[in-house]
Amino acid sequence: MNLFTGAKTLKELYTDYRSMNADEKADFYQSKCDYYQNFAAVCMVLASIFSVGYILPDYLINRSVTPTLLPRLSVIIAIALFLVVTHYSRKRALTVFMDHFLVHSIIITAIWAIYNLDDQIHSSEGLIIMNLMLMIVGFVARPSESLLSQIAFFLEILISDQFIHYEGLPVILVLQATCAIGILVTECLMTLFYLDHYRIMQKLELAMVTDPLTQVYNRHLLERIITQNALKDISGPVAIAMMDIDYFKQVNDEHGHYTGDLTLLYIGQKLSNETHDNDFVIRYGGEEFVIILKNCDVNNACARMEQFRRDIESAPDTPVPITVSVGVSRYTGDFSKTIQNVDAALYKAKNTGRNKVVVY
Ligand code: GH3
Ligand code: MG
Ligand code: MG
Repeated sequence: MNLFTGAKTLKELYTDYRSMNADEKADFYQSKCDYYQNFAAVCMVLASIFSVGYILPDYLINRSVTPTLLPRLSVIIAIALFLVVTHYSRKRALTVFMDHFLVHSIIITAIWAIYNLDDQIHSSEGLIIMNLMLMIVGFVARPSESLLSQIAFFLEILISDQFIHYEGLPVILVLQATCAIGILVTECLMTLFYLDHYRIMQKLELAMVTDPLTQVYNRHLLERIITQNALKDISGPVAIAMMDIDYFKQVNDEHGHYTGDLTLLYIGQKLSNETHDNDFVIRYGGEEFVIILKNCDVNNACARMEQFRRDIESAPDTPVPITVSVGVSRYTGDFSKTIQNVDAALYKAKNTGRNKVVVY
């Protein structure tokens, strides 16, 4: 990627980011958190454990391990708390809080150890190195949260200076400011590049549940609805309909498969247009569609399907004249049983003359 292409991509990603509403941003940041948290957690725990190893340079300065042993080991309490809380919750806000809690615990215990050192000449290196961890937790956080964390780090340096009296405070602050700017810019860029990844994932997920011919959902979505028991949380009644094109084989035989495909596309699009946004239209098999009607009792579902049947029968723009048969049933709470009921209703519609809606 050359610089020009990179800048153009970033501009597009930034425009995309700005166009997201609060809910979309919340979902985006949750996804970023889920994606990077395992990486960040492993790095953070390792960094915390390795930070205990600073006892060695402490020994080189103090010629004794005792003064800094307690501050260095106290990080173990923070690791334990971090592991327990992040084990029980995947909530983004709490996860990000715990990540920063661990980083700042390491920072504070390091400051405590510096306080107990005979010679604080190396404190700037000790503090600057903390930016590595701030950068890692930035992968999980929003840039605004990373900014807050950086401000907290500055405050920790300034407050600890009241009793440590760092020799080179201005140098520490300037170095820290430079690192902070670098990290925040990197995190903004990284967030935008994650948006690219997030959009690709969304497209792949949608493609996985979309039927390429009719552009309605495919059976993958149905499987997901069944395995996740997704209909049980809907407060109102749910009705399920199964629609099958009558004598569709003849359409293929007499007009060719291309016209057959156009007919399927027509039906799929018309079903999508005539159902509500939160209903599901699923291509169940070759020329069979399952329609999940939410907040819709069985009488209402019948009326809506009857209207659809009539619309198809009299539509002037179908590729070839067609009719449809529909089976309808109330969702009982057991999806497989409901599908059996709907199937039985459709079977009856087919066996009693077709071009009709039958309720089970
Ligand atoms: P019935 O009224 O009893 O439903 O009769 P039918 O002819 O509609 O039912 P049948 O099950 O005998 O035939 C369904 C046909 O649908 C057979 C198959 O070739 C066709 N079909 C299935 N998928 C597609 C597709 O994607 N495109 C096209 N063009 N035809 C398809
Ligand atoms: Mg058919
Ligand atoms: Mg069929």
